[in-house]
Amino acid sequence: MASNIPEMFGSMVFNEQAMRERLPKDVYRAVRRTMENGESLDDSVAAVVANAMKDWAIEKGATHFTHWFQPMTGITAEKHDSFISPAGEGKVIMEFSGKELIKGEPDASSFPSGGLRATFEARGYTGWDPTSYAFIKENTLCIPTAFYSYSGEALDKKTPLLRSMAAINTQAVRVLKCLGVDVDHVVTTVGPEQEYFLVTKEMFDKRKDLIFTGRTLFGSKAPKGQELEDHFFGSIKPRVQAYMKELDEELWKLGVYAKTEHNEVAPAQHELAPIYERTNIACDHNQLTMELMKKVALRHGLVCLLHEKPFAGVNGSGKHNNWSIATDKGTNLLEPGKKPSENIPFLVFLAAIIKAVDEHQDLLRISAAGAGNDHRLGGNEAPPAIMSMFVGTEIEAVLESIAQGKDYKPDSVGVLDTSVEALPNLYRDTTDRNRTSPFAFTGNKFEFRSLGAPVSIAGANIVLNTITADALFFIADKLERGEKPLDVVRGILRDNGRIIFNGDGYAAEWVAEAEKRGLLNFRSSAEAMPHYCDEKNVSLFEKHRVFTRAELASRTEIMIENYCKVINIEALTMIDMANKEILPSGLAYMKDLAETAANKRAISGDISCEFETNMLSKISALCASISKRAETLDKALLEVKNYAEVSDCANYYRDVVFVAMQELRAVADELETVVGEKYWAFPTYGELLFGV
Ligand code: ADP
Ligand code: MG
Repeated sequence: MASNIPEMFGSMVFNEQAMRERLPKDVYRAVRRTMENGESLDDSVAAVVANAMKDWAIEKGATHFTHWFQPMTGITAEKHDSFISPAGEGKVIMEFSGKELIKGEPDASSFPSGGLRATFEARGYTGWDPTSYAFIKENTLCIPTAFYSYSGEALDKKTPLLRSMAAINTQAVRVLKCLGVDVDHVVTTVGPEQEYFLVTKEMFDKRKDLIFTGRTLFGSKAPKGQELEDHFFGSIKPRVQAYMKELDEELWKLGVYAKTEHNEVAPAQHELAPIYERTNIACDHNQLTMELMKKVALRHGLVCLLHEKPFAGVNGSGKHNNWSIATDKGTNLLEPGKKPSENIPFLVFLAAIIKAVDEHQDLLRISAAGAGNDHRLGGNEAPPAIMSMFVGTEIEAVLESIAQGKDYKPDSVGVLDTSVEALPNLYRDTTDRNRTSPFAFTGNKFEFRSLGAPVSIAGANIVLNTITADALFFIADKLERGEKPLDVVRGILRDNGRIIFNGDGYAAEWVAEAEKRGLLNFRSSAEAMPHYCDEKNVSLFEKHRVFTRAELASRTEIMIENYCKVINIEALTMIDMANKEILPSGLAYMKDLAETAANKRAISGDISCEFETNMLSKISALCASISKRAETLDKALLEVKNYAEVSDCANYYRDVVFVAMQELRAVADELETVVGEKYWAFPTYGELLFGV
């Protein structure tokens, strides 16, 4: 390992430094213009860049290249080609042309398109995305690309994300111009905190549910869970420490700013937080982070679980999407400064976000929807499914005074008194932590906490960027017509202030209060997802050129289909495990019990067989119930074909199939608590959670 971290950092990335060293000046400048302003690159320039990239990559040991893209599966895709090219006399040379850099043609028919791409036009293209650096992963030069269909519709998560960044840039610059702030462009920034679980590979391999679905479908509670709260920030075990160290190094080589690693609330749960970057780069890097988390784990005999809820009754894994808006001059527009009440750009951008979140609660909720996340949202461990916004007491007081047209008188902002002379005075943050809010202002950024651990952050940030762009559009119109900024802010607080909630989002009273305020409450993903292509959303996304109607419809379909498929696979896995593993475990134990009882009786009628007899009848009844419920689940799956509409299917999966799954699980988990350990077919929660 290189002991010199600055030297190691980004060593596998064709970054600024590599480009400056290896590209002729005019070519380098042309690439920079493309990166910054989206100017197109001409073929001769691309050829020079391709050649320099190839030489650099070969020096680093690369033999292949790939267009690296982010189809709607939510993970990344690559198809490797080697650099070799025949050079006559049975020899080869290493080649990589400008054309190969700029455009690729993977077979699009094997990726989800939601009906966008009829099979007769299966063609899809990948196009170089020069806004993100090329890098080397496992001896392959990876070219970040966008993926689109023959007719030009986006088939990936990156294209709309870039479009949404362009949209917010346009509107933010308009607003800033009215406020007299001079900027060339504005970007959004994201730091996604990533939670995950680690289990041993040995135990993982023994659980079909983990293998097929990423979560445990059966399992009774271990005697110890997270109640002692001794895992959060606890000391990290040596094996996990070694894993984290290697993961950090791998990420650093790829230019990912992995910064903080710590234990999370649940046993076996951990978190990695990177330093924030431009949203599109943060998205690429989060995909790489998830991929490497899994790969590096295997090298340590571990498996990294990214599922939203791998274990029932134990905290699930989310991804906190810390999001802000910054100018090209490096100013964070969500930094309130010492006197937030006098910071007009801050107040205007804050108001834009208040309006955006209030008017598009549906989109934020949908951006966190999925079969896996239904186990988390609203589960008293993750944010509620109701969208609201936390701003903290100081900002709330500032907004209050604006709403009432009064001057703001700051509270004496307290110095935290630790009563220990030696400790420095810590100034209290203007926002306390509120872990129950889905969308919380945390000092100089918003933290959107609803996302599940495994998803691409693209979806949520497309929504955040676009809805904020739309609110800024509204504000820019007013400012350009000469309205005063604070009047605009006041109007927004009057119309959209209901979205602000600083209380306990887990409390039952909040559900009632939210309903009174008219806030949306989509309890399940099946209920939420079809609203993605509501007319309001089609016009929003079309207005800002983020999605066409057809693209939005296709994405809705893919999302709902995925929901159905996930539950279907889970149900099939449960039936399989129940019949082939759980029932045979029960039978094996019953056999021993019966034989023991028979042997006892053979020796003497006086020895009591009460335990064996009671146990036998209990286990026998449980097994009968398991068998029956597995059959009920099986029958429920056969009925799915009666629903033609994909959204009806999703509702059926939630209302019928999922309910039958829970019923099957309940009896199987009860059986687990009485059957002898050596009879049980797969590792228990205790072994999984405390086995590393
Ligand atoms: P926490 O108290 O939640 O741990 P941190 O300050 O450590 O907060 O930041 C958490 C995450 O937020 C990190 O990934 C960090 O890089 C990110 N973050 C900080 N500032 C910004 C910003 N301006 N824009 C986006 N993300 C940010
Ligand atoms: Mg956080």
